[in-house]
Order: sequence, then C-alpha cells, then structure tokens
Amino acid sequence: MYFISTRGKERVTGAQAIVQGIASDGGLFVPESFPAVSAAEMEGMLGMDYPERAALVLGKYLDEYDSGELLEALRAAYARFDDGDPAPLVRIENGTYLLELFHGPTCAFKDMALTVLPYLLRKGCEIAGIKEKILVLVATSGDTGKAALEGFGGAEGIKVMAFYPEEGVSKMQKLQMCTTEWENENVIAVRGNFDDCQTGVKRIFASAEYAKALEEKGYRLSSANSINFGRLAPQIAYYFSAYCDLVTSDQIKYGDKVDFAVPTGNFGNILAAYYAKMMGLPVGKLICASNRNNVLTDFFGNGTYDCKRPFFRTMSPSMDILVSSNLERLVFELSGRNAGLTAERMAALSEKGRYSVSQEELNALRESFYAGYTSEDDTVECIYEFFSEYGYPMDTHTGVAMNVAQNYLKSLEDVVGAEERPMVVVSTASPYKFPQDVLYALTGNDVKDSFKGVKRINLLTAMKVPESLKAIRYKPIRFKQVVTPAKMFDEVLKFVNE
Ligand SMILES: *Cc1c(COP(=O)(O)O)cnc(C)c1O
Repeated sequence: MYFISTRGKERVTGAQAIVQGIASDGGLFVPESFPAVSAAEMEGMLGMDYPERAALVLGKYLDEYDSGELLEALRAAYARFDDGDPAPLVRIENGTYLLELFHGPTCAFKDMALTVLPYLLRKGCEIAGIKEKILVLVATSGDTGKAALEGFGGAEGIKVMAFYPEEGVSKMQKLQMCTTEWENENVIAVRGNFDDCQTGVKRIFASAEYAKALEEKGYRLSSANSINFGRLAPQIAYYFSAYCDLVTSDQIKYGDKVDFAVPTGNFGNILAAYYAKMMGLPVGKLICASNRNNVLTDFFGNGTYDCKRPFFRTMSPSMDILVSSNLERLVFELSGRNAGLTAERMAALSEKGRYSVSQEELNALRESFYAGYTSEDDTVECIYEFFSEYGYPMDTHTGVAMNVAQNYLKSLEDVVGAEERPMVVVSTASPYKFPQDVLYALTGNDVKDSFKGVKRINLLTAMKVPESLKAIRYKPIRFKQVVTPAKMFDEVLKFVNE
C-alpha cells in the first residue's frame, strides 16, 4: 500500500511514511485508498485476542511488514499493559460503555500506539534501507511525551527529544517526563503553550537547513506525534476491537451501528475512528468532544476553522490545543481528496489563522460527526454525578467526553424518529494521572500534593493505583531546562552531539 501527502507532492510506501513522519511538502501522509475489512474478516476477528485483531487491522495498511513478526511485536507491546486486555470495554448500568485505553505504562491512551511505534519505525528503516540514526522529536501537551519516552526508552540507534509547554501540563505529567531515566532521551520545557511547542517542532521538520545539519551528524528526523501514520494505525484497531467485544458479549448484533464519543485535542484519536468507519466498521455518529478550547466545535458548527482566539488552560490539558493537526486529513477527505485545495487551506491557516469549507462539505461533515464542548464546571459536575450514581471515577478528559455524549443524547430527545444507538465513550486517561482535579471533582477538596490526591482518590474509589505512578514519587528529577521556541533547534543539535 502506498501513502500520499494531503498536499499532493509526495507518494511513498508505508515504511517510508512512518520513518519520515511528515511529508516533505508539509502535508500529512494518508493511505492511497482505504482498505476494507470484509464481513468474513470481521467474523474471524470476533474470536481473536487483542494483538491478533490489531495485527489484522495494521496488516491492511502495512503490507510490507512481515505479518508474523508484526503480530509478535504487537504481543510484546501489549504485554506491557495491566491485566492482559489492553482495551477493556466496561458497561455502566445506564447502558453507556467506556472503552478504557489507559492500562499501559504511562496511564493514557497514547500508550496504545507508542508502545508499538518503536517496532514500526525500526522495521520501517530496515525495509526502506535507511542506515542513519533516528532522532524522534515530540511536541507534547502532556501525555504523548511520556508515552514516547517509555516506548523508545533504550532503543538502539534512536534518540528521543520531548518538548512540553512550561505551564501547560499537569504536575503528574511533568513529573512523569522529568524523571525519565533513559540515556537516549531528553526532555525540555518550552516557554509558551502547546501550540507554540508544536509549531516549533513543525518548523524544525520543515527546514532543509536543519535537516542538513542533522544529516552531517548521521541523524534523520522522525515524529512520534499523531501526524505520524504509525501513531494512527494502532489507534484504528481499538475501535474494531471494541465493536467485536460488543458483539461477543451479546450487546449488539453484527451490523448494528455504534456511536463513539472521543475527547479531542489534536484530532488523532477520533480520526482513527473515522478511518475505522471508512474501512467498513458500522459506526453511527462520532462525537467530537472539546473543552473550553472549542475551536473544533465552532468548525463543525459553521464551517470556519479559526484559531485566532484566546487560549485557555483547563484541567484537561491534553486537549488544550487550538491547531488540531490531524484535521488536515479529514479536510482532505471532505474535499474529495483535493490536494491543491487542502494545501491552500493549510496555507491560509498558517498565514491568516483561518480557513472555511463549503456548505456541501459542512453537511457531509455533520453526517458523520456531532461536535460539542463543555465548561470546566460542567466537567466537574459530570465526574461527580457519574461517580455518585455509578461508582465509576473518570479522569478529566473522559469527563469532557461523557458530558458531551450526554448532551448529544439529550439533543436526540427532541428529534422525531432519531435513532438511539449504543454509545461508547473513549476513556483516555487514568483518573490518577490528574489526581488534584479529579479529587476536586469528586469531593470539592483541593490538595497541593499530587500523591496526596492519589491516596485520597484511592480511599474513596478503591480503584487500584498504577504501579508506574506510585514509583515516580521517589525518582530524582533529571530534566529542568526551559527554553524559548527560538532556541529549540540549538538544543536538538546539542543533544545529537552528546
Ligand atoms: C492526547 C489526549 C487526548 C486528545 O487526543 P487527540 O488524539 O490529540 O485528539 C485526550 N485525552 C487524553 C488523556 C490525551 O492524552
């Protein structure tokens, strides 16, 4: 299978797409066409375990990878998760389902892909005949950073550099990253917000001069952000798996449509759901849930993406994003795969901070998606109510998705003949990853210390505390450096020289 750039100037193999991360024309790689999963294959998938299901889905895109080896790599990756099943589906009394994707090494859904990406990248280099060492650059709003650091820790021939916004991540996220012990990795705070961080990293990728400077040191760049197709592919798999679990537990019949509600930031997770739908999964609506940074809600509402607006720091920091990179892939599909038009729109976004789609495209968008956002107060209320009623503690991001999903279901009550389908809310992080805010939501109490928060949540909910979070309490802080966006590349050069 080949991959093409959303901006039309490049066509490469899957291995190359993963190694490169981003296309050289600044676009994102998308599959040349969507591979179908047939009814027979779906049926086969019902009897498979998670790694086998994922291998089937990934194999559709990455046909140059040896299928047996791919399955082994997936098995090894998901063996690092708690309790055997990396993506359990939990049924709540009221008929909602939660797809828990936080049982990996860093307690957020990013682990689903970032435990697999090192294999995809290393093997991709081998397939594409690439001999240089790889420097993985990560811009993180908190969770991607640590997941990448865990995934690539100790990887031979690969260095990882994670940039996070100085004031834009939770204390626990910061601790997780800054206590990283691996020698091949570096963590640096950037003055500014996540968008400044992401723009800085994209600028490094776009510069021929920087690429040359790195080449002289024997390195080439790759990305662990969800612009990399190697991040998206493993995410597609859990939508298939959740669907299979609904069928095998007799919650639905094969062919019934299911809605998914996804807490959204960079639009990677929900895009994977859309890709699953394009491959034939019976998906109803995709609920795109945002916090106060509701640029996506407005876009789905009026067809104009406008990122010139105030940026808010919220208690769901991994969704504090105004430029959602992966939306480019959706806009490309929406335009009938018109690369010229997509390139124009993205140029308008970077020059004027906005672009619009046509009414026709907007209508098509609304067929597949419902978008909404929630205030901080409503998120707190939702987490509180859900726990008091069903005894289920959610993290702050999942709380946003649950609240928007509930609003969506309410909106259906007024629509004559509206179809109510099973709703799967994607649970993207452990509540213990955001202990202060979750404790506040559950009890109204503020604690200064993250670990005190962890302890109190544990007393209240009896939910098991992940070992990896317990352990960082006693680890030394290794990384303390803060730089301005303009100095990011200097740090990159220093790091490859080490
Ligand atoms: C990254 C993240 C999100 C947002 O996912 P996108 O793929 O960027 O839309 C939501 N919740 C949590 C906990 C995350 O780490």
